[in-house]
Amino acid sequence: MRPPRSTSFSSWPIDESEILMGNGHKRILILLLAIFVSMAASRANAQAQNEPRSLPPAPQPRPNQEISTPGTSTTPAPPQPSAGTSVAQPAGNNAAEITRPAPPAPQIVTPQLSLEQTIDRIFQRENQFLQSLRNFHPLIETYVQEVRPDEELGTVPKNDHYFLARLDLQPTLDERSYLKESKGGFRNLFRLAFLEKLTNLFELHYLPLGFAQMVLLDNANFDRQHYEMKYLRREFLGDVRCMVFDVMPTKHSGKGRFLGRIWVEDQEQNIVRFNGTYAPHSRRGYYLHFDSWRLNVRPGLWMPAYIYTEESDLKYSMLQRQARMKGQTRLWGYDLKNAGRQEEFSRITVDSPATVRDQSESAQDATPVESQRAWERMAEDNVLERLEKAGLMAPEGEVDKVLSTVVNNLEITNKLSVQPEVRCRVLLSTPLESLTVGHTIVVSRGLLDVLPDEASLAMVLAHELGHIVLGHRMDTRYAFNDRMLFPDEATFQRVGFRHTSQEEQAADAKAAAFLKNSPYNDKLANAGLFLRAVAQRANELPSLIQPHLGDGLAEKGSRVLRMTELMNSAPQLQMNRVEQVAALPLGARIKMDPWDDHLELIKAKPVALLSAREKMAFEVTPFFPHLSRHGSEPLASNTIR
Ligand SMILES: [Zn+2]
Repeated sequence: MRPPRSTSFSSWPIDESEILMGNGHKRILILLLAIFVSMAASRANAQAQNEPRSLPPAPQPRPNQEISTPGTSTTPAPPQPSAGTSVAQPAGNNAAEITRPAPPAPQIVTPQLSLEQTIDRIFQRENQFLQSLRNFHPLIETYVQEVRPDEELGTVPKNDHYFLARLDLQPTLDERSYLKESKGGFRNLFRLAFLEKLTNLFELHYLPLGFAQMVLLDNANFDRQHYEMKYLRREFLGDVRCMVFDVMPTKHSGKGRFLGRIWVEDQEQNIVRFNGTYAPHSRRGYYLHFDSWRLNVRPGLWMPAYIYTEESDLKYSMLQRQARMKGQTRLWGYDLKNAGRQEEFSRITVDSPATVRDQSESAQDATPVESQRAWERMAEDNVLERLEKAGLMAPEGEVDKVLSTVVNNLEITNKLSVQPEVRCRVLLSTPLESLTVGHTIVVSRGLLDVLPDEASLAMVLAHELGHIVLGHRMDTRYAFNDRMLFPDEATFQRVGFRHTSQEEQAADAKAAAFLKNSPYNDKLANAGLFLRAVAQRANELPSLIQPHLGDGLAEKGSRVLRMTELMNSAPQLQMNRVEQVAALPLGARIKMDPWDDHLELIKAKPVALLSAREKMAFEVTPFFPHLSRHGSEPLASNTIR
């Protein structure tokens, strides 16, 4: 069982207005642009909370000069939450940061380490980290956009690439891909020599292995013989105080060595961020630049979670053609063995008989209709559980509740009573898609990220609700449990929930009717605008609009497949107008816990956009996660109510 979340539904910055319907038993919550605040908001969060805050510069130590560790620090250490002191201070305020009160007594007493000892500890910790990482098999997703300059918007996407695989660091870096083999024959590329051809962009192929590599500083030789380190200063990343070092490979230390900067948390000397590239660059091979972040997922365990890549002058052929690209890599599913609805066997024996007994109220056998429904629900539950175990679906959580609230609004205003009840879940992947598994509506994380407001979310959900109400049934072969026993990597091949184009049109018609009766009826212009934005980018972002399990919104050739009437009635799309936000950047709404995959909505205050260049519809942006130590409440939360 999962521990309760720290963030409750009611603590969101939601502007709730309630409408009492009929006999007053049922209540609709209309979340007026509630959860779905403006795109600007999310970026404000990224900027305000996550900007590295610097402490006063530490004097540059000479060799053997001592670097004080928290126990002996002369600089105030971040207060421990257990101290019970609530520090109210605006996030991102440097001045406030510096004047943080010191805790009454040091919580962790570490012996004073000299600079040389500290560096030895960093090498040692990183090698321990490498060993422990071999025991984990997280999912690794990379989404890359090639961009071209644009006069009004700075840059705009011109092509994209998507990779999803499971990471296996034993014995050498390997990825088992979830996606069907594409024409490039990625499997063969996996077997190429480690490191040397990793990010060889000679022909501008983005090898997924190259992105996986960026979770590591150095696969085997991160030590004094191969690297030099130069101490710079202390700096906070989120709530975590770090020591910052520049790292250079020593002479003749070989190819593929890390060159750049590292941030090391100052309690156990774990590297929490590294930023740079691999060196030396050769004429044929080219290593990407990257900014790689680790999160403290469990005590003492800092795991790779986010990597941002960006190149603006990638030369990739004899003709010296240039490429510009930017990409996001996310890792999650470190603790998949505990995913799904499973209990300890011992629970059954210690629990009272009542909890083990079948809960059904009637003592009668099910009627034929009830049997059919139960059979379909069983198939549905099997699929959901399988997807969760494969690391493709988030466990049940607060985001599901938001979606359910919107579905409930649609059901009540349309006087629908669907049995068994409609549920909502989130697919963890980026490509924009939604699907229906029996009576469960599933929306991808990427789609939730880019939707501009609640009305456009209602549009997506209304379409799926249309499928459910029209009885577009799922294939009940999934009710047989043997059909769920396949390798995780085969998930996309084994399960699929596509509909025929007739079913799609019928669901659209139903959805239009539902929306008309709903509280979203007068806000549908933005939903239509969102579809216009999808149409405008569909040609440049084929990988983003390509669904893997369900139905997509559009297909290549800029043809929108969903709710076209709604789109046609929307106002003109004006990408260069700052006020018109038709779609948000990726990562704008949903925050994922890389350890257990649970999702949260990003809470952020809106911020005004400076120009249309900051709209960045459907685009990838750099990561600035707010680092905190596992189990400690983030300090920034003190400022949010
Ligand atoms: Zn559909």
